[in-house]
Amino acid sequence: MTALDLTLATTGAAALPRSLFGMSRAEIAGVIADALALDAKKAKMRASQLWRWAYHYGVTDFEAMTDIGKEMRADLARLFSLERPRVADRQVSIDGTRKYLIEIGPGAEIECVFIPDVGRAGALCVSSQVGCTLNCTFCHTGTQALVRNLTAGEIVAQVMAVKDDLPEWPSGGDDRRLSNIVFMGMGEPLYNLDNVARAIEIISDGDGIGISRRRITVSTSGVAPEIHRLGEETGAMLAISLHATNDALRDELVPINRKYNIAELMAACAAYPGAGNTKRITFEYVMLKGVNDSNAEARALVRLLKDLPAKINLIPFNPWPGAPYECSDWSRIEAFAEIVNKAGYASPIRTPRGRDIAAACGQLKSQSVKTRASERLKERLAEAEQ
Ligand code: SAH
Ligand code: SF4
Repeated sequence: MTALDLTLATTGAAALPRSLFGMSRAEIAGVIADALALDAKKAKMRASQLWRWAYHYGVTDFEAMTDIGKEMRADLARLFSLERPRVADRQVSIDGTRKYLIEIGPGAEIECVFIPDVGRAGALCVSSQVGCTLNCTFCHTGTQALVRNLTAGEIVAQVMAVKDDLPEWPSGGDDRRLSNIVFMGMGEPLYNLDNVARAIEIISDGDGIGISRRRITVSTSGVAPEIHRLGEETGAMLAISLHATNDALRDELVPINRKYNIAELMAACAAYPGAGNTKRITFEYVMLKGVNDSNAEARALVRLLKDLPAKINLIPFNPWPGAPYECSDWSRIEAFAEIVNKAGYASPIRTPRGRDIAAACGQLKSQSVKTRASERLKERLAEAEQ
């Protein structure tokens, strides 16, 4: 199977079948109206049929679309494609977590991770960029040199490829296995919000994949000015990678804090559309030994979040080769969790999943490694001193 080349597809290069992933229904109707000279009403009907075959049944071959005439099926197959990207590697953890390395174009690979038994059935952690520009010092993804935004089609294609593998199409049995989507893979989703919003529109469509917006969570390191638009445009659940309760430490761990500080981030959270007791904001806090894990910091965390509809997720630090941190001791995590728990936050510790295959939070990284974040930080500091 060849990899999808969506860059070519979107320039309208005539000869190549164009991928339908990433297009809204209205866009599909538009392109088939043009390509097959159909009137708007007929094109809309055909787009609905196609949509259902593609996203509800997971069909890849236009020939299988039996309610569309033979000639039109042939035309569609010539012009359009429902081909999946190539899964370059797939690993299964002893706990059932599956990690996929997906090739989205020449030299561009991303990872996504399926985690069974979370949410209603299972969650898929998708990537929104190849790599990440943000260099959080505890995160492996930030050490990847090559960075580019994923298209909406490339985000949706991750879901399609994993649904094929589970399998989770109507022919694959009754049990729902994929119920939740989390944007916690590679990349900063709010640096690619247009494509993330488009992908959410497609993934949540009730006539297709049908994962409700309430079961889709977008995690951000704190791009405060885009948080409101995320809520307005997607209705998704919000997660914030907080990790520190004061600006001095957060500046160091999550460098975007130098641009949008904690006060600005909290104000954006307070104004998140729809946030309330039934739609809480998740605050993620990675437990770093001797760095952010004292009792005083647990109390500061509770104080910081007291006026927000919040959930707290304590994430044991997942180590990676050359990481400049260690995970807090288990007894420390428990003591921290108890303070948080007493303040009314239930089950705050997130069990690490898929650690044996480096599929846990912050361990994702595809091939294009050049320098480690710590090295790059040193380089930047050296530059600043000059
Ligand atoms: N860029 C976004 C989403 C991807 S990161 C963000 O930062 O929110 C997903 C989560 O994994 C974030 O909360 C991130 O802080 C956390 N994470 C990154 N590296 C980690 C590590 N080594 N151990 C544990 N969690 C980590
Ligand atoms: Fe990027 Fe998120 Fe990793 Fe920070 S934690 S480097 S924002 S992926």
